[in-house]
Amino acid sequence: MKKAIVYGAGISGQGVAEVLEHQGWEVKIYTDDMGGFEQLLEGAELLVLSPGVAPDKPEVLMARERGLKVLPEIEIAFNQFKGKMAGITGTNGKTTTTTLVGEMLKTLNVPVKVAGNIGLSLSKELEGLGEDAWVAAELSSFQLETVEKFAPQIACVLNLTPDHLERHHTLEAYYAAKQNICNKQSEKQYTVLNYDDTNLVTWSMNLHSQVCYFSRIKELPEGVFVQNGKFLVRWYGEEKIVCAIKDMQIFGPHNVENVLAAIAVGYLAGCSVEDMAKVIRNFSGVEHRLEYVRTINDVKYYNDSKATNTDSAVKALQAFPNNKIVLIAGGHDKQTDLGEFMRCVKEHVSELILLGEAKERFAKTAQDLGISNIHIVKDYEEAVGLAHKLAKPAQVVLLSPACSSYDMFKNFEERGKKYKELVKVL
Ligand code: ADP
Repeated sequence: MKKAIVYGAGISGQGVAEVLEHQGWEVKIYTDDMGGFEQLLEGAELLVLSPGVAPDKPEVLMARERGLKVLPEIEIAFNQFKGKMAGITGTNGKTTTTTLVGEMLKTLNVPVKVAGNIGLSLSKELEGLGEDAWVAAELSSFQLETVEKFAPQIACVLNLTPDHLERHHTLEAYYAAKQNICNKQSEKQYTVLNYDDTNLVTWSMNLHSQVCYFSRIKELPEGVFVQNGKFLVRWYGEEKIVCAIKDMQIFGPHNVENVLAAIAVGYLAGCSVEDMAKVIRNFSGVEHRLEYVRTINDVKYYNDSKATNTDSAVKALQAFPNNKIVLIAGGHDKQTDLGEFMRCVKEHVSELILLGEAKERFAKTAQDLGISNIHIVKDYEEAVGLAHKLAKPAQVVLLSPACSSYDMFKNFEERGKKYKELVKVL
């Protein structure tokens, strides 16, 4: 029996271990706290990496030295899959866009799965699907870092901004990992790229696939864009209106980009514009992403706990162009530059409430920029209580932390739930 080691016992690791067993492999799961990795290597041919495992770990290097094949979980998933995949990556907007694409694909009346970084093991979800199936796969740079032949039918890259330097070390390495989503695509496959992101436009020169751009800002000779407030597809001589921006329930310029990307993917997958319009009208977003919680005394409360970096917090602030915001931010500090974020805070925020590990550095940067009304609090109870006290009618209270949650919570979901509970009992 061929022997494989699966590194990591999370959702992806467990899923892929099962799938490999079904394919006749003898599988051992390895985790960091186990020890004895060297013995496991005896007779093994394959090491499968869970997304959380960095490829420069000593164990991985050792396995490579011994001649094992090293592949990420998504490559195993891809190799056994007979259907078509729409793979979606980017620094921000992945879950929203993948969920929306999944809804669009369902209108094709074929088996559809939504999986990947979204919390469902890709390999497990794809197991046993036939040729007619479509999958909307959310893909992170961690999953893409070590792929070899992975090539989805449609690859979509939403945007690229600095993130995850703790894992990839350099920006170039992070971008290179993302680029793996389309490097191996053929002429018969499609790459959907954000035309408004200059980094992505330079990519297209090296691709074999057919590139379909989307743009929120510019009318394109070919691609998906906005014209007179309407989403328009212009592709191979055809021009079709999908629906209007005002038909969307989700809001903010960033969500316009997510919808544009989803339309491009859906169209290339064969969805009709009528079906896509219906999906867009009905789509109310994903929990913890600019999620409306409630209104008290004409103050609207929003939960954007998923904003784990400054870029996504900036997008959240820009989504309320006509309101002054009471912002709750802070958490585990990723040590990225705060310049743009704080300039945006200065423009949109009337009261800045800070907590978590990042609070001092955030407060100092804010002060240096001349931002006033900075409040440092110890926990979420105090933060929500203070926001409630400070907010005036017609204002918005927004949790958009610009930080990950690991200093105080298990994950951003737990953080968002805590915030919502506190807001609900105000
Ligand atoms: P991801 O799965 O990539 O983390 P999500 O769809 O979960 O993305 O959105 C996370 C946060 O990122 C949102 O709360 C929002 O503030 C921000 N965001 C969403 N879409 C975009 C986008 N297209 N560009 C920039 N920021 C975005």
